[in-house]
Amino acid sequence: MRAQIDSAGGLRHLVTLEGLSRETLLSLLDRAENYRRIPGQPAYEGRELAGVTVSNLFFEPSTRTRASFDLAARRLGAHVLNMDMQSSSRVKGETMLDTVYTLEAMNTDVFVIRDTEAGLPEFLIDHVAPHVSVISAGEAHCSHPTQGLLDVLTIRTHKRRFEGLKVVIVGDIRHSRVARSTAQALTTLGVTDLRLVGPESLLPDENEFRGAQRFTRIEDGLADADVVMMLRIQKERMAVDASLDDAAYFRDFGLTPARLRLAAPNAIVMHPGPMNRGIEIDSRVADGPQSVIREQVNNGVAVRMAVLAAIAATLTRHRLPL
Ligand code: ASP
Repeated sequence: MRAQIDSAGGLRHLVTLEGLSRETLLSLLDRAENYRRIPGQPAYEGRELAGVTVSNLFFEPSTRTRASFDLAARRLGAHVLNMDMQSSSRVKGETMLDTVYTLEAMNTDVFVIRDTEAGLPEFLIDHVAPHVSVISAGEAHCSHPTQGLLDVLTIRTHKRRFEGLKVVIVGDIRHSRVARSTAQALTTLGVTDLRLVGPESLLPDENEFRGAQRFTRIEDGLADADVVMMLRIQKERMAVDASLDDAAYFRDFGLTPARLRLAAPNAIVMHPGPMNRGIEIDSRVADGPQSVIREQVNNGVAVRMAVLAAIAATLTRHRLPL
């Protein structure tokens, strides 16, 4: 795969957080903080993406990620094309690459792409023109880099540090691109106590999440945790015969107020959405005082602005002169 960072140290593409340095992660978080506006404040409006065309290609459903990439690009002055890929030529048999070349011919500078196929963002990085950038908005079960960044930004905002934090991720970790990206960022930023909780069948393979502790009882994983991250069961990524009983799952792994009391008193509760209330999380927790779930959404726009702005700054070195 072509490098995500160019020879001058600028962000060129973003398809995985793996291998990105602590400095790169921190500079994206700092940039995002600069763009962040809480609901009620006027949104940041800038020209960092003036003259840049961003094409959003979503082949999988998305609410938060798609809306926030769209808003982020517009708030920085980009031209934005939101392709409805359900009705695009891909269903007529045009290959993904032909779609990309078609939009490149219309001066797309940045592709934001989500697909069920593993490896597609990396493949595109190797095939787009030298002046074009690729950002992954979710790659199969493998990676969701902007979600990882917004998660660590949310944690930094509340905890002001990464070293010494106890972070527990609960749920369908095996199929979660969010867990993979967030864990990569947390590890790079200095978290050493990372716990994975779920039924055996939903825990990842042993060779993944190196250094994390595994638990099959939520009570054990929650003990004194500073950050509790809940995940949805991703039935769409399971074999058709994978039948999970929702009520039994909630009984064994659902985050209830009583269970949350096992974590540190000021623990924060996170969820990337979409939430299934009453399956992985009790509404009293999702809407309770320790929940930062809507802050995650707010941070998602800021982080996507930061990534787009960093890439646009790098792009100026790679574009052709007039
Ligand atoms: N929205 C997240 C994702 O795209 C999490 C989920 O779908 O459960 O991976």
